[in-house]
Amino acid sequence: MEKSFSIPISRRSFMKLAGLAAAGAVLGGADTPRAKAAAPVTPSADFGDAELPVLYDVDVCVVGGGSAGTAAAVSAARKGMKTVLVEQGIALGGLQTLGCVFPCMPTFADGSDTPYITDLNRRMEGQGVSPSLGFETDTYYGGGRGQYEAEYLSLVYDEMCEEAGVEVLYGATLVGAITEAERIAACVVQTIEGLAKIQAKVFIDGTGDALLSRFAGIPAEKGSEKNGRNQPMSLRFEMGGIDVGKVYHFFTKELKDDWTKGKFAQIVEEALKQKKAPFLEFAKWKKNEEFFKSGVADGELTEDDILYIQAFTIRSKPGVMSMNCPEMPPLSFSSTGAISKSKSASFGRKMMRRLASFFVHNLPGFEKAYISREASLVGVRESWRIRGKYDLEADDYIKARRFPDAVCRTAYPIDIHDVKLDLFEKLKKGQYYEIPYRALVTNELANLIVAGRCASGSFAAQASFRIQPTCMSMGEAAGIAAAWGVRHGIDVNAVRWEQIPKSERSYVSEG
Ligand SMILES: Cc1cc2nc3c(=O)[nH]c(=O)nc-3n(C[C@H](O)[C@H](O)[C@H](O)COP(=O)(O)OP(=O)(O)OC[C@H]3O[C@@H](n4cnc5c(N)ncnc54)[C@H](O)[C@@H]3O)c2cc1C
Repeated sequence: MEKSFSIPISRRSFMKLAGLAAAGAVLGGADTPRAKAAAPVTPSADFGDAELPVLYDVDVCVVGGGSAGTAAAVSAARKGMKTVLVEQGIALGGLQTLGCVFPCMPTFADGSDTPYITDLNRRMEGQGVSPSLGFETDTYYGGGRGQYEAEYLSLVYDEMCEEAGVEVLYGATLVGAITEAERIAACVVQTIEGLAKIQAKVFIDGTGDALLSRFAGIPAEKGSEKNGRNQPMSLRFEMGGIDVGKVYHFFTKELKDDWTKGKFAQIVEEALKQKKAPFLEFAKWKKNEEFFKSGVADGELTEDDILYIQAFTIRSKPGVMSMNCPEMPPLSFSSTGAISKSKSASFGRKMMRRLASFFVHNLPGFEKAYISREASLVGVRESWRIRGKYDLEADDYIKARRFPDAVCRTAYPIDIHDVKLDLFEKLKKGQYYEIPYRALVTNELANLIVAGRCASGSFAAQASFRIQPTCMSMGEAAGIAAAWGVRHGIDVNAVRWEQIPKSERSYVSEG
């Protein structure tokens, strides 16, 4: 007879570290701006005494199979760790795949590609999908190089996990953590069989929402320190059946959109001449704003629909564009409210239909277009961020700060969607800042590493480090550090990245 997993009768309680979390959350006093972003303690069940079956007992358990979590699991397994990767969906990549987020943004920092990224690019090319945007001319677009087509990416991720020996557990949702003496003893997952425990020496939080960390009582912050608002969410989609050449000519010739001037325009024109799919972007820029506003005036669109409009061609899918919209109005919806986030999905879906219909009826090149794919994850740019040993600030970006324990570099701007970019000085060409390993570990828990968009940083700092290549490099470092800690009997929050031999590190700071 098959064993059935029992659901423990759990008393609603805060985790053992809740006291610590509350204290940490108000660092600097209740009036400081950072205190405004402090998230309340995450309610959680106490699974400590629950008799749950143990699904896995491993060296490293990674929760969340997004850009960061997948990189972490693959890197740990490649270093010989018995590794399990827990993912609630049935594909790896998180926002990259399930969220239809495309393309991978450049870091704008020469030398930012860590070995995992180089390997991923090579594998994507092996699938016949060039990750190149096709216009690396005078700027090196470090960090992923742009094109990770979702359907191939999830396949390649499966392949990488399989080769490295990562045990991927799909369809498993993290619901709790069991902590003992400043360590996570086990995480609790909901599976098709019911609740179960996964025991590990090291846990890596790749949930994007710092969920494992928060269940384990780690202090977290959410939203802007000034107004408490999270970055706006989007519900992304793809449209097929587009005549890209016609779209390009409409924007450049009729709307006089000048973003494609110069060398880039030549590349697009040349690709169109050769009947190849060019990399092309259109967006609601100042010059063509009137075009989108006409949709509002005619009642086809709402003001909300045109808050943010952006679209990219996918070169390996001719005639298809990836829509970085609709963007749900940030005053109405929040990524950290369960009900609000849920409502944003159906609100976004209606926006998506209106936008698609507007494009079909008004945008030359879209006459025969249709929605070919809709995201299955709401696009959360920012939700909760942990408070780690080092907390990145906008100042680290502005001062192009470097760290001996740096795990990666980036010069991607502080990209806050409802705040004007010019509030922040942009780094000059050739400048970059680094992310220290200490931003991935906490003072409170000895065996936890956090990677990806929920790593430790202020609202503004996160708006820079949240992009995919940086999340991947953070994950890669997390996996390497986990393996180093396990092999040498060092707690991961005591690991000194800079003391790991250079040959073992994915990134070495040039100081
Ligand atoms: C609309 C939008 C547009 C963007 N545009 C770009 C862009 O053009 N280029 C770029 O580089 N970056 C872009 N970004 C940012 C970037 O895509 C993300 O920040 C990055 O992919 C985050 O990776 P992650 O691994 O930290 O988190 P995620 O991708 O969110 O992955 C988290 C994973 O954890 C899983 N998970 C969560 N909770 C649980 C649970 N309880 N149990 C089990 N599994 C769980 C999720 O299913 C998911 O797979 C954009 C983001 C958004 C939202």
